[in-house]
Amino acid sequence: MKSRTKTYAVGALALLAAVAGCSSSAAPAAHPAAPPEQSSQSADAPSGSASASGGPQAAAWSKWGLQPLPPAPAPPTDRPIKLTASGTVPVISSVPTKDKIVFITLDDGAEKDPKFIEMMNDLKIPVTMFLTKNIIENDYGYFKPLQALGNHIQNHTVTHPIMSKISAAKQKSEICVDQATLTQQYGTAPLLFRPPYGDGANTPTLNTSVQECGPRAIVLWHETMQIHDMQYVTADKKLRPGDIILAHFRGPSELKGETMTAMFGEMLSRIQEQGFAVARLDDYIQPPTG
Ligand SMILES: [Zn+2]
Repeated sequence: MKSRTKTYAVGALALLAAVAGCSSSAAPAAHPAAPPEQSSQSADAPSGSASASGGPQAAAWSKWGLQPLPPAPAPPTDRPIKLTASGTVPVISSVPTKDKIVFITLDDGAEKDPKFIEMMNDLKIPVTMFLTKNIIENDYGYFKPLQALGNHIQNHTVTHPIMSKISAAKQKSEICVDQATLTQQYGTAPLLFRPPYGDGANTPTLNTSVQECGPRAIVLWHETMQIHDMQYVTADKKLRPGDIILAHFRGPSELKGETMTAMFGEMLSRIQEQGFAVARLDDYIQPPTG
């Protein structure tokens, strides 16, 4: 099957997840209280990676009150998701892989906490940022140190609308203007698009709008990070290999007094407890060739 309309683990799950996206109205998930899994990180750790125990790396984690995550495996030479230069764009909410890895995405761009830059400099956790022009235009510069760490900036519209409620022309303007702005500000054109709330992701209208503005995939998610816990799409409240996690640039006003770094640390702890590493999404997506 050489269909261009391939979707990766989407459908009902994605719709369910979409309800929680970019909204603080979702009920916080109960504390998973998952027992730590049998650690296999020493056996699986690729040589040449930073050690998860001891050394300056451990000191960096300890500074933030965190246990080190297992190192991510070496990126695959054959990337499991391959994008095409034209035609329908795929809708992605997880990456096909057997490795115990997840991917973190950070949306909108409202909170601009200098402490978070410091945390990311210390921990070097890969993230993908989906940024909204009207939310970041008061400080485009904030995101540049995060970009300098190798994290890519992707398209998340100009005004964060519910895409299925606006015309095709308006959809196009939302995506194309964010695309042009992010390209100008950050020097590279976004390859990925995320619709606010995940809304309209599987509609032909939105797919066409995305194609006309340049991104070559629509990216959704499985888990949603709340303040202290993650909201899972599966009843067993467990991460699966290749899951994409949605979190936001949010601070005390959106997190009931919690800081961005505290929220991010909690998310890393939920990942660490389940024995997962965080990998870089771009390493698993092959951009169009030619
Ligand atoms: Zn959003």
